[in-house]
Amino acid sequence: MALNALPDGPGAEVVVDAAGLGARLLAGDGSLSPVRGQVVYVDQVGLDQWWLDESGPTYVVPRSSDIVVGGSADEGEWDRTRDPDLDRQILARAAELVPELRHARVRGHKVGLRPTRPSVRLELEQRRKTRVVHCYGHGGAGVTLSWGCADEVAGLVDG
Ligand SMILES: Cc1cc2nc3c(=O)[nH]c(=O)nc-3n(C[C@H](O)[C@H](O)[C@H](O)COP(=O)(O)OP(=O)(O)OC[C@H]3O[C@@H](n4cnc5c(N)ncnc54)[C@H](O)[C@@H]3O)c2cc1C
Repeated sequence: MALNALPDGPGAEVVVDAAGLGARLLAGDGSLSPVRGQVVYVDQVGLDQWWLDESGPTYVVPRSSDIVVGGSADEGEWDRTRDPDLDRQILARAAELVPELRHARVRGHKVGLRPTRPSVRLELEQRRKTRVVHCYGHGGAGVTLSWGCADEVAGLVDG
């Protein structure tokens, strides 16, 4: 359910706050801000290598049945409306890098907001009888960092 505050009181002895950008409200953390990113999904055209060019950024991520082509990074932008011009730019940049993409069929699009903060917040906060373990603010690296952060969170939860 959508919470308007972190749970506390009876039944909420331990709460893990992994709300991403939602921690702006739940933890009252104004240092969190979005970095908008747009990607295009195209058919798999036989690629088995990743490509990343920091400018843009431009990246090509082959998966079993499709390829994720990115991207963009707009700091402070909350708007999740898709920008078709940006799709075209992304595909053109990617095709410069990987010419096989030139005629790949577009399957879909996605826009997301990276939950960015000067540094990840991973710490324990005692709020009366509730132990809150905060874990948010991973920006554009939350998937990469998830295993290590989950280990640390579990350690804090176990005391
Ligand atoms: C275009 C793009 C490309 C990316 N590429 C990479 C990449 O290549 N490698 C990488 O490591 N990372 C990448 N990331 C970043 C990664 O997706 C994020 O860092 C990661 O998803 C953050 O995970 P999270 O669980 O902290 O937050 P989220 O995934 O945002 O999850 C937060 C959850 O909390 C819930 N929530 C928030 N507020 C409330 C509330 N008030 N009540 C109840 N529930 C609430 C939300 O509904 C959501 O389910 C990319 C992101 C984007 C947008």
